[in-house]
Amino acid sequence: MTDTYRHKGMRRALVEEITNKGITDMSVLKAIGKIPRHEFLDSSFDRFAYNDVAFPIGSGQTISQPYTVAFQSEMLEIKRGDKILEVGTGSGYQACVLSELGAKVYSIERQKKLYDKTSKFLSKLGYHLNLFYGDGYAGLPTYGPFDKIIITAGAPEIPKKLLLQLKIGGWMVVPIGGDDGQVMTKVTRIGEKEFNQETFGDFAFVPMLKNKAK
Ligand code: SAH
Repeated sequence: MTDTYRHKGMRRALVEEITNKGITDMSVLKAIGKIPRHEFLDSSFDRFAYNDVAFPIGSGQTISQPYTVAFQSEMLEIKRGDKILEVGTGSGYQACVLSELGAKVYSIERQKKLYDKTSKFLSKLGYHLNLFYGDGYAGLPTYGPFDKIIITAGAPEIPKKLLLQLKIGGWMVVPIGGDDGQVMTKVTRIGEKEFNQETFGDFAFVPMLKNKAK
C-alpha cells in the first residue's frame, strides 16, 4: 500500500472542498485528511479516489461521498470512547472515520462477500474494529446500548428495533426514504419510550435491505 505525495495533495484538496461545502468540525476534517481513501477503491480508480463523489465498490454497493461521510460524522458529535453502531459497513471508510474520531465502532454488513473483503482489508490497513455479518434491522442487541447509531443506507422508515438499542440521550442518524432519495434524519431517545425527530436535508444512498445476503 502506498500513500504518495500526490495522494496527500489530492486529500488536502478534498478537505478544502468539503470545508467549502459547509463541514466545520475540525476533527472530522482531520480524519478525512488522514485516511487513504484511494486504498478503499480498486487501484485502477486511483485518480477518482479524492473526488467528492460516491463510487462503486463491487456487489452493487458504493463507498459514500466524502461530503456525506463528513456530514453524518459531524451529526454524531462523537466524544472519545463513544460506542457507535454503524449499519452498512460497505468499504469500511465511514467506520475508519468514526474510529479516527475516537469511537468504539461496531459495524454490520449484510453482504457476506463485502464483509469478508472489508474485514481483511481494514486489519491490513491497521484498523481493528468490531465488524459483523448480519442484518442491520436487527442491530446488535447483545452489544448495546449504543451512544449513537449511524445508518449508511437509505431506510424506507425508521428501524424501530434499533431505537431501543440507543442509550437515553443518544441519537440515530439515518437517511429516510426510497429510491428517489432520502431525508437525513436525527432521532434522539429522550426517554424510555420518547423520541424526538429532526431533519437535515436531502441525500442519495443505496437502499437498506431486509435480511442477510450470501
Ligand atoms: N458506510 C459505507 C457505505 C456503504 S453503502 C462506506 O463507508 O463505504 C451501504 C451499505 O449498506 C452496503 O454495503 C449494503 O450492503 C449495506 N446494507 C444495506 N442494507 C443493510 C442491512 N439491512 N444491514 C446491514 N447492511 C446493509
